[in-house]
Amino acid sequence: MRSRNSEKRRTIFTEAMEVFEEAADLIGLNHRVRLELEEPNYEHIFYVTVALKDRLVPVTASEAGRFKDLPETHPAFAPEILADGTLVLPDNALRRGDATVRDGFVKLGSRGTYRIEPGGPRRFKAYRVQYNDVRGPYKGGLRFHKEVSLDLFKSLAAEMTWKTAIVDVPFGGAKGGIRIDPRMYSKEEIKALTLRYMYKLKSLVGPNIDIPAPDVGTNPEIMGMLFRQFSDGERERHMTRGIVTGKDVRIGGSEGRTQATGQGVAYCIEEWFKDKGQSLKGATFILQGFGNVGSWAAKILTGMGARLLAVNDADGTVHNPDGLDVAALDQYVYENKDNIRKTVAGFPGGQPIPASELFAIPADMFIPAALGGTITAEVAEKLKVKLVAEGANEPTTPEGDEVLARRGIEVIPDIIANAGGVTVSYYEWLQNKRMEHWTEKEVLQRLETAVKSNYRIIRDIATNNPRKSELHDSRPYVVGKPCHSRVAAMVLALKRIEAHYLLEGFSQ
Ligand code: NAD
Repeated sequence: MRSRNSEKRRTIFTEAMEVFEEAADLIGLNHRVRLELEEPNYEHIFYVTVALKDRLVPVTASEAGRFKDLPETHPAFAPEILADGTLVLPDNALRRGDATVRDGFVKLGSRGTYRIEPGGPRRFKAYRVQYNDVRGPYKGGLRFHKEVSLDLFKSLAAEMTWKTAIVDVPFGGAKGGIRIDPRMYSKEEIKALTLRYMYKLKSLVGPNIDIPAPDVGTNPEIMGMLFRQFSDGERERHMTRGIVTGKDVRIGGSEGRTQATGQGVAYCIEEWFKDKGQSLKGATFILQGFGNVGSWAAKILTGMGARLLAVNDADGTVHNPDGLDVAALDQYVYENKDNIRKTVAGFPGGQPIPASELFAIPADMFIPAALGGTITAEVAEKLKVKLVAEGANEPTTPEGDEVLARRGIEVIPDIIANAGGVTVSYYEWLQNKRMEHWTEKEVLQRLETAVKSNYRIIRDIATNNPRKSELHDSRPYVVGKPCHSRVAAMVLALKRIEAHYLLEGFSQ
């Protein structure tokens, strides 16, 4: 398994690259190609500024006591409520409303007393790492999250490079985003920030250069904004629709994109069960994250007869030993206006349990579908599953991997398990270029072939079993001895990438 390189400073990036090094050694990757692939082509760090609106911050009960006699304020326009209960005031909401302010505090009837926090310009750190484009334009998501760093984006951009090669779409790898907690800003503020991000990035991206997509904290709405900011005023505006993927289907997004990543996870799991000669019907799983990937994987797998025993997200964990009603859970999280954090916490169809207990629930599989680094050695010791199917990017630490391997828990690595998203992104980009609109059936058929055929190649590399079937041919990739599935996936990526350097050469 992964060997740690103790000479280098250890970072998220160097950890992520340990598998690269292992696979590169295994196949004797050309040394110059190795040097090209060990670091990104470009690392862009820049800053975006945005004017924030005034906020109303809820005060403690004891502080509110000072304002008992304060007359009630009625803002002219309804404020927007943020995840922590802070209210963002639309412009002129107090000035044009019926407001009484004392020492910077207002009282909003039954809502309580609030301190006014003046808005004003703020600066945020932004990133775009363009890792490698030897196989095609840079491609990778945009993450709006409070815990991002250059190292994180380098590792995620590298991962995109391997992933696009594994599913054999003609793209390279990139990743970027903004260091921000988007739940603490209003829709208008996020929009302003998004437009400013593209304004600053415009000269570095393009439909044939670098194509962003949604990731954690971004969504189709944000992709629509990025498209407009990039294309407005351009002479051939509609030819640039492929500047971003993950758009709403009504503006050039692909059918099937929303569920594509969860669907890809399910296709891999289906193949895994088929290999074992077992049925998915009645199989059980536990899940971390109920966002895009987690919720779709859960819906699709339960549709195939599997049972979800417990799910955890950033705000809570629910458990039902008989299986959670995933349709009801989805409705509770996404169709329920009162659930402002869009969390599984409080779901009446399950029991709340501490987050740490999730991992110890016996099940057939665990699907991490939240952030990276979840499966540490400690978590890997706790897991009572046969399979980890990595929906999230980089959810397993090298130590976690060692423990999983020792305990005989198999892994479907992220670079194939969650590659469904980028695969359908490619279909979206193709449809945009050709001005076409494919049906969901057509998209999912192509996706199934892409994921399952490459999954089979990886399985054959891992088991050292060169084969050709109607769907796949693993003979050019198998290396002569068995290896871990994670290394096998990397072998497939590196052989496909290396071919470009070896056959095209290096320009000077
Ligand atoms: P999302 O923002 O829709 O959902 C993230 C989920 O993770 C939410 O339910 C959130 O509550 C949960 N979460 C966040 N922090 C957590 C914590 N500390 N503990 C437990 N749960 C936590 O994001 P997404 O698009 O579903 O992406 C999830 C993962 O899948 C990420 O690692 C992302 O990079 C990866 N991924 C996404 C796609 C895609 O198409 N969306 C494609 C490939 C990989």
